[in-house]
Amino acid sequence: MQMRKLGSLEVSLIGLGCNNFGRRCDEGQTRAVVEAALEAGINFFDTSDSYGGTLSEQYLGKALGARRDEVVIATKFSSPIDDDPTHRGASPAWIVQAVEGSLRRLGTDRIDLYQQHFPDAEVPIEATLEALDRLVREGKVREIGCSNFSGQQIDQAASVAAEKGWTPFVSAQNQLNVLHRQPLDDVVPACARHGLGFLPYFPLASGLLTGKYSRGKPPPEGTRLAGMPEERASRLLSERNFARVEALTKFAESRGHTILELAIAWLAAQPTMASVIAGATRPEQVKANAKAVDWALTAEDLAEIDRLLE
Ligand code: NAP
Repeated sequence: MQMRKLGSLEVSLIGLGCNNFGRRCDEGQTRAVVEAALEAGINFFDTSDSYGGTLSEQYLGKALGARRDEVVIATKFSSPIDDDPTHRGASPAWIVQAVEGSLRRLGTDRIDLYQQHFPDAEVPIEATLEALDRLVREGKVREIGCSNFSGQQIDQAASVAAEKGWTPFVSAQNQLNVLHRQPLDDVVPACARHGLGFLPYFPLASGLLTGKYSRGKPPPEGTRLAGMPEERASRLLSERNFARVEALTKFAESRGHTILELAIAWLAAQPTMASVIAGATRPEQVKANAKAVDWALTAEDLAEIDRLLE
């Protein structure tokens, strides 16, 4: 497995997104998926205090057990974790509580990458960064990152950290996949300007880029899109998306590859990419995702993919 730098951390180019844990995966399924990831050479696990109503962190911590020191754990704060309106956001008062909850649920003494899940319009970035810097100095957190920030918000956070001498964000996590490329115009260039690594969420467009959904057929039973409210699922399963997936599948097959391999290889080829944090509900999926990174796309392949998507 290829490794990439994320600040002082070294992460596998394929990571594991953990938002299915505690929701669609119980403790046993979580353990099976995590074990398959470790076996495939994956060392980077991305969760959040809010996933699975806080169960994702708990199941991940248990599944890692004694192997915790072999891996890099990323989690997040700021999304609501329950109905208490003080249990959310990016205020220093919540950050000091949120980090203790995450450490406890994960069963660890430090979080390798602590990410602000969403920007918080109510809290100046200075206050958030100062609180996060304190956690780094206390040794509770090794590196910090942001998620769902715009390029401009990343610029602002970088200049505040530099000016005050505080720990800077080393990562940005936003939606990016071959069907949703907008961050390449805004967030990815901001990452390049400030030396942040990019973490793409929905890298497989919730499974659409694995080839398991077909035009005119209902989503197969047990899949994520079968369990999703129809209105949301139909936005993903649109005529336009199917046409694009079919064109990409044809291209991948003409090169002896699958659409899954194309989705992952395309992300791996983007500037500042640190780790493709694909989610999984079964061990076979993790194995397939870890293997998919073996295809290195050329500049001509990337240009051809752009043309197909126009
Ligand atoms: P994703 O990676 O695009 O899709 C994951 C889904 O794809 C899995 O649940 C599985 O679907 C299917 N899948 C994965 N590998 C497969 C394979 N080899 N063959 C067939 N199907 C496969 O979406 P995601 O998990 O939501 O996003 C990745 C991670 O990003 C999350 O786990 C989370 O850590 C993070 N995230 C962050 C934010 C944020 O705001 N920062 C938002 C969303 C997600 P089935 O369930 O049908 O088996």
